[in-house]
Amino acid sequence: MIAMNGVYKTYTLAGETLNALDDISLTVAKGDFMAIVGPSGSGKSTLMNVLGCLDTPTRGQYLLDGAEIGKLSDNKLANIRNNKIGFIFQSFHLLPRLSAIDNVELPLIYRGISGKERHAMAKEALQKVGLGERMRHMPNQLSGGQQQRVAIARALAGRPPLLLADEPTGALDSKTSQDVIELLKALNEEGNTIVLITHDPKVAGQAKRVVRIQDGQLSEERSAAS
Ligand code: ATP
Ligand code: MG
Repeated sequence: MIAMNGVYKTYTLAGETLNALDDISLTVAKGDFMAIVGPSGSGKSTLMNVLGCLDTPTRGQYLLDGAEIGKLSDNKLANIRNNKIGFIFQSFHLLPRLSAIDNVELPLIYRGISGKERHAMAKEALQKVGLGERMRHMPNQLSGGQQQRVAIARALAGRPPLLLADEPTGALDSKTSQDVIELLKALNEEGNTIVLITHDPKVAGQAKRVVRIQDGQLSEERSAAS
């Protein structure tokens, strides 16, 4: 599904250049559940942004389902993001004035899916994350773990094959965090490919595969086979 070859992301600030990604090669197969670990500033979010087609490599090749991401127009990139990738963030990013189901429907509006179908898809996603009884709640009427479930439902609703999560449990206590990981594991069992950034060794330990990034360089820490 994902193949990166010699990918660099270089930032230049005040005459200083920094390789936030420094010659990264990585493959992620369909059905993988990969955790990315590494210290603050090591390049995790930069890598996630490139994987998620929110940013393109300065140099090197990134292939997503055979499409070379660095060569696509902004329009095509947006199309890929909308159809292939679901994003989950540490701070949920729910809109406070929209109910749970309206939050989940929002990205489906951008995909041009009609009202009735959209509603059905959002409902199904919320049921899948165990929030079928909370669809009309506003974000501030939900616990942190429930808010993250809404965010996961939003990521899932369009049935994207790839889920990218940047510290999805960073704002949750350890019990709630484990519930969210169990949910991600179940989604992976159903065929979703998951790439997750985490600082938490307990979370990383539950992925099928762990890679470490340090100063923009990647090393495999534990592969699926071991
Ligand atoms: P954290 O765990 O704190 O979230 P991270 O591993 O996600 O850290 P990144 O956000 O990927 O780290 O940043 C990697 C490096 O790239 C850092 O040194 C950061 O300062 C630098 N960097 C990130 N974005 C930019 C930018 N837009 N311009 C310049 N430098 C940047
Ligand atoms: Mg980060």
